[in-house]
Order: sequence, then C-alpha cells, then structure tokens
Amino acid sequence: MSFILKNNGLIKISDNNEVLVADAEGRMMYYSFDNATYRRTLQNIFLKTYFVNHKRMVYQLNENESRDIAKRFYEKTRNILFKDSAERDFYGYLKSSSEKMENIYGSSIPIVPPDQYFSIYIRITNGCSWNKCVFCDLYKNQKYSVVDFSSLKKEINEINNYFGDSIMARKSVFLGDANAININNNVLIEYLKYIHEVYNLDIYSFMDVFTTDKTKKLNDFIQMRANGVKRLYIGLESGNENVLKLLNKNIDVNNAINFINTVKSSGINVGIIILIGAGGVKNYHNHVRGTVNFIKKLSLDRGDIIYLSRLVEYDEYQKNSSINGIVSLTSDEGESQVQEFKKLLNTDAKIAEYDIKEALY
Ligand code: SF4
Repeated sequence: MSFILKNNGLIKISDNNEVLVADAEGRMMYYSFDNATYRRTLQNIFLKTYFVNHKRMVYQLNENESRDIAKRFYEKTRNILFKDSAERDFYGYLKSSSEKMENIYGSSIPIVPPDQYFSIYIRITNGCSWNKCVFCDLYKNQKYSVVDFSSLKKEINEINNYFGDSIMARKSVFLGDANAININNNVLIEYLKYIHEVYNLDIYSFMDVFTTDKTKKLNDFIQMRANGVKRLYIGLESGNENVLKLLNKNIDVNNAINFINTVKSSGINVGIIILIGAGGVKNYHNHVRGTVNFIKKLSLDRGDIIYLSRLVEYDEYQKNSSINGIVSLTSDEGESQVQEFKKLLNTDAKIAEYDIKEALY
C-alpha cells in the first residue's frame, strides 16, 4: 500500500520499503530502496549514495544505469504523477527538462555547497575572475563576466517558468558563480533587492578572501546582510601560506583572518572549506597545524560551518604536483587527516564533510 504526501511543491510516495520523491512537475528527485538512495540532480545526473562498513559512498551512474532507475521510478509513480498512466519516454522527459535548464544559464553549473542542492541558482556572474588555482578546473573554459540587469530579469522569469509549482520546494537562493558577490556593490545591492523581492528567501554565495578583501568593506557586508545575504562560502583550502602558494591561491593569511572576522561582524555567517590532502604528504602536518591555528583566530559561532573537502585531482593538478615533488595522500591518509581536523578544530562552528563529486545542482 502506498502513502502519498503532496506538500510545498513536492510529491512523496512511500511504498513498502521504498521512498520516491518527485517535484510538482513530476521530475524525479529521490528514490530510496535496497539500502541505497538515488538523487537526480536538476542537471539530470544520477547519484547513488550507500554505506559500506559505515562509510558513506557516492557513485555517479552512467546513462544506461540512470535510464534503468528512471524506468523503475516511473513504473511505480506514473499513475500518481501524471494524469494518464501511459508508458512514455520518462528518461527523455527528464533529459529535456535538464537541457531546458542549461539553456537558461547558458552552461552547466559545476558546483554548489552541500546545503544548497535545493536552492534557486541565480547566475549573476559567469565563471571565476581568478581561475588560476592549480587544483580547480571548475570554470577553466568559462570566460568571467557579470550578468546585466535585464539579462538577470530574463533569467529569473525563465527559472520561474522552469520550476512551475515546484519552486515552493526551494528553500534558498544561491548566487553563482565562483565569487558572485564581488561585483560593484551598488550593482550587487540592486540585484539583491530585486531577488529578495521576487523570492523572499535567504541568499547564499561563494566568496574568495584574496580579491574580495580589496573591494568590500564592513559597510558593504552590512548592506548585503540587510538585503538577504545569510552565509558566504569561502574556499580557504589551507591556513598555511606555503601550501596556499603550492595551490596558487593568493591568500595572505593574516589579511584573510581579519577579513573573515569583518564579514562575521556584519552578521553574515561563513562556510569555510578546508582542502583535505592540500600540499600532499610533505606538508601534511604544516597544513593541519596552520589551518587549525587559522580557524582558532576566527570569531565563529553555531551559524558557521567548516567543511572538510577531499582534493579531487585532475590531470593538470597531477602534472603540477609531480613538478613540485608533491606526493598525494592515499585514501587512508586522507581519512586520517579528516579525523585529525575533527579532533583538533576547537570551534563553535559545525564541522561537516563536503564531497565535490556529489555537490551538484
Ligand atoms: S578554487 Fe575558487 S578561486 Fe580558485 S580557480 Fe576555482 S573557483 Fe576560482
């Protein structure tokens, strides 16, 4: 026997030991069965999460596997989600829906923080204005630009049409892309006012601490807070300057501490991302020590989060590492570093793991 719950833009069906969740437009979101959960991202990527010996695993399905899961999902839900019960190409429906979404943004969205899967992504800038960190290929092929106001209005209209009634399931707004808030503050505030007026939701964004510290002052953050900005996510990676140099991340450690404390004093919370494995085996202890000391000097509270995110190596990073004689951590060494951070970070902020393989919109 199934139980059906329709609420706030979501349709949740519980059927024996299975849970199936779709949005109000009938697009699959989650499917749990046999001790695994399948999440379909808005970009039509199917992720399976499951546990092996209490360890959480994430696996990205290939297209055939995704089709099979979609088929099984709609066999069980099509009578409920659609008025008629006719068999049709449901995977095709999901795929074309994700293509529609990609057309709105002009390209795919490579990453969001782990608590922003259910946000409304509003792209106010494209790409990353720095784009030179050696471990990051998220925006490598994207030219940095700022979206103008008329394009922003068009984007928001199209996003609203795309979501339809399912927009009610969205709990926040996330400003894209990499360092979206670092545009001219008058322009930013105009955008924030408009976005807040349309959605009346808390607003979140990534922010760097090596270009933004040159352009934004306390008053700018106070204005942002007054216009809905709730938390800024900072890719700190490490609190050790040598490790930061190896990553080609231009952070001055003392400036960054003062700057993050300035952001905090405006009432905005922060999410600080630490890169597990940064600097490799050679810098293992300096990375941990420097980062723990860095965090100690921040005025963090329970509204803040520290994310431990494992380095995912791509080709260019590996080349760079071998030039610099950097040997990567093994998976076990990475796990030890995670545990060491958890033990040594003495903070009121929450500590959570961040797997960029599943941080997909
Ligand atoms: S890590 Fe952040 S700042 Fe560095 S290139 Fe990637 S998006 Fe840009």
